Amino acid sequence: MTSFVRDYRQRWGGPALAVALPDSTDDVAAVVRWCAAHGVAIVPQGGNTGLTGASVPAGIVGGAIAGHNGVSAPASPNPTAPTASAEPSATDTGAGPQPDRDRPVIVLSLKHLQRVRSVDLAGSTMVVEAGCTLAAAQAAAAAHGRLFPLSLASEGSCTVGGNLATNAGGVQVLRYGNMRELCLGLEVVTASGEVWHGLNRLRKNNTGYDLRDLFIGAEGTLGIITAAVLKLFPQPAGRVVALAQVDAPEQALALLVQAQSRLAAELTAFELMSADALGLVHRHFPELPVPFGAAAGATPAGQDPGAGQDTDARQDAGARHDADTGHDRARAGRQPVTRPWFVLLEASSLHSEAAAREGLETVLAAAMEAGTVRDAVLSGSLAQFAALWALRENISAAQSREGRNIKHDISVPIGRIAEFMVAAEAQLRAAYPAVRLTVFGHLGDGNLHFNVSPRAQFARQYDEAFAADEARVNHIVHDVVAAHEGAISAEHGIGVLRLAELARYKQPLELQMMRAIKAALDPDDRMNPGKLLPTYCKVMK
Ligand code: FAD
Repeated sequence: MTSFVRDYRQRWGGPALAVALPDSTDDVAAVVRWCAAHGVAIVPQGGNTGLTGASVPAGIVGGAIAGHNGVSAPASPNPTAPTASAEPSATDTGAGPQPDRDRPVIVLSLKHLQRVRSVDLAGSTMVVEAGCTLAAAQAAAAAHGRLFPLSLASEGSCTVGGNLATNAGGVQVLRYGNMRELCLGLEVVTASGEVWHGLNRLRKNNTGYDLRDLFIGAEGTLGIITAAVLKLFPQPAGRVVALAQVDAPEQALALLVQAQSRLAAELTAFELMSADALGLVHRHFPELPVPFGAAAGATPAGQDPGAGQDTDARQDAGARHDADTGHDRARAGRQPVTRPWFVLLEASSLHSEAAAREGLETVLAAAMEAGTVRDAVLSGSLAQFAALWALRENISAAQSREGRNIKHDISVPIGRIAEFMVAAEAQLRAAYPAVRLTVFGHLGDGNLHFNVSPRAQFARQYDEAFAADEARVNHIVHDVVAAHEGAISAEHGIGVLRLAELARYKQPLELQMMRAIKAALDPDDRMNPGKLLPTYCKVMK
């Protein structure tokens, strides 16, 4: 039972009357109708890999929720958004986002709904049940020679229903879009226990409001997704990945523009990683080879993170082959590098691996000629392809092994990313001179995981001091995000983690429309209460 009522990070959770594991849509509907008749709230759950506490009963297990422990939100930075005192919020009521305390709640796990119902090659779609893991959906597509492109590090456990409810992103959004763009239709059990048969397979359907879009990204607060029509794509014949070293995020952006101009739809991933991020991977996964001394960015525990990031005294510059990794080197620069950054670029070709390689080599050669890229390695085999991707995929795990940090999943307009990072770092350093930043993410989507350790050391636990730092750091970072026309959640959602902050950064009119939708579809607030929508109950009364 514990695994159903505690979240992935062991940070949130609360008691549940029961865990329901229905086998079919009709069974889901029967459970929902029973809950409606008995006033029981429902927390829908897929793989329970969500990172905002939305997939478990609301409450606190491991520590503080931002805005709790007496830390209140300062006045809103957005003149059109409510201030913490202008509108009752989870923060200033002191009640926090825990309405489940006062009423019984069950966890409704979709894990047993895992059939692939059909595959339509002519229409390039498949109908998949909500509890199917993302990896199983990918495999089902591959078995028919097609690609289902959503790709997350959690794909072995997360489910299609959870991916839809969080509108998941991942590393291929640049080419294929996020989950919203990969879905044509839904089957949903409504809050009253009726089944909406919305498994639309049409590419064109202008017959009114797009109800599908309401349920995607709703975090289970409007209804329960039981199945979906997903889009399929041709399998690429070849994929090649390169790791490139650049001086600063501006150069990474310049490389993005060059790569998009040359590769267009063949550019399938463009990920940015700070030296500190790669350094953490090097320390905690020493078995993974890090090319061209990129791990020089590793900050030994307890050391100022600036150390080791300011120069890169590579002796082997100019070599064509990296002795540590066996990767082919495109070319190498010689100048000392300040604060190196790294970009992982992937090119895919429908024709051949050679075509993908040629495209990527052309981009990198031109970028080196232009001085945008200092050094780069290309994967020369499947093993090297996997090894380079492993560097990116293990950053989160390396961070967890290092200790706790304050995570931000932000997006800003792509062209403003470098400017955002300069401003955010300056503001953070003014408050915390020893601040340590571990930045990585989907630069091609304008989405960064901007993780902050306010002190040189990563924290070991959630405690009062961590909670106070977290609230302060969140406001610093998110105010800079708002000033750069960004969003405080790009792909992880709101859950309980960002609940108080949503009230701070959303326009009042947006919140009002969201509440109207919630009231129409779930008038008794029984679908995942206390998540996503700030102070829903208070405002409804
Ligand atoms: P859960 O965690 O079970 O639930 C998430 C939310 O969806 C909850 O609000 C829940 O109530 C709701 N929900 C679940 N199933 C249903 C349903 N059938 N109907 C209605 N509501 C439902 N996310 C990204 O976007 N991009 C990434 O790159 C990424 N990388 C990750 C890497 C790791 C290592 C981990 C642990 C997580 C990562 N995530 C990422 C976050 C997470 O995997 C995604 O949010 C994922 O989509 C959640 O799917 P799930 O099945 O685990 O959902």
